[in-house]
Amino acid sequence: MKINKFTQQKDFHEFINNNHIIQEHVQFENDICSRHANDDDFLLEGYCKVCDKQTNFLVDRLFGSQITEQGWIPNWRERLECQQCRLNNRQRAILHVIKEAVEKKSTNPVIYAMEQVTPLFSCLKQQYENVIGSEYLGEDIESGSVVNNIRHENIEQLSFADQSIDIIVSNDVLEHVNSPEKAIAEIYRVLKPNGEIFMTVPFHANEEKTVCRATLNNGTIKHLLPPVYHGNPISDEGSLVFNDFGWDLLEQMKMIGFQDVSLCNYWSDLYGYLGEIQYYFWAGKSNS
Ligand SMILES: [Zn+2]
Repeated sequence: MKINKFTQQKDFHEFINNNHIIQEHVQFENDICSRHANDDDFLLEGYCKVCDKQTNFLVDRLFGSQITEQGWIPNWRERLECQQCRLNNRQRAILHVIKEAVEKKSTNPVIYAMEQVTPLFSCLKQQYENVIGSEYLGEDIESGSVVNNIRHENIEQLSFADQSIDIIVSNDVLEHVNSPEKAIAEIYRVLKPNGEIFMTVPFHANEEKTVCRATLNNGTIKHLLPPVYHGNPISDEGSLVFNDFGWDLLEQMKMIGFQDVSLCNYWSDLYGYLGEIQYYFWAGKSNS
């Protein structure tokens, strides 16, 4: 799978604006949408890297499909659900890159996922030996506690020892913490030398600076912008978004110590990773 890595906003925008390959991808996706303009859902053939076999990916109108003059455009990031493992585009892609990272390690890595009650965690647990998962269960609980078989971790204050984890997986979590700086510092602390993090966050690629939407002080939330909540698998109330991240997130991660930090863009019709622009963040800790 071809991955395009970016460390600066300017390079990313040049790539997006002047790249004929992107235009070809968009055309490819538009053609699919035109063929299925009158269908409520459809299947696309492909190869699932999680299942490691040929499969069909389900595309339907869930999670905000858009209506256009030509028909409807699915939410590619959240759909393309493999009919075997039931994981969607972004979930399969992150497991794909983790698989490649694990293959490069000489020993069985310790993997920490900032989720535990999700299909993605179940897949990780099935595929690898040393996998730890956690959820955020509330402010009065100590990190590392287990409540009803669910481990609690406050990622601003992880319970793990220094340099104890090889790979961290964090999917749409960092926007929900009050202090991303503290969380990133904790991630850096617990990673072993050569450790790495694969992370997704809702990213505002046109914004240079992160915009703070809310703060938390002594248990009191102050809203600086209208509150936005995202779905949370363990709470019906959802999770408040504290920050809308811009490109300074990469700089922040570097300042905390990460040697390499990049925005990684991927696309593959074979693997069912359609949609512009799909990306995750990768950061690596140096070996010394
Ligand atoms: Zn699959």
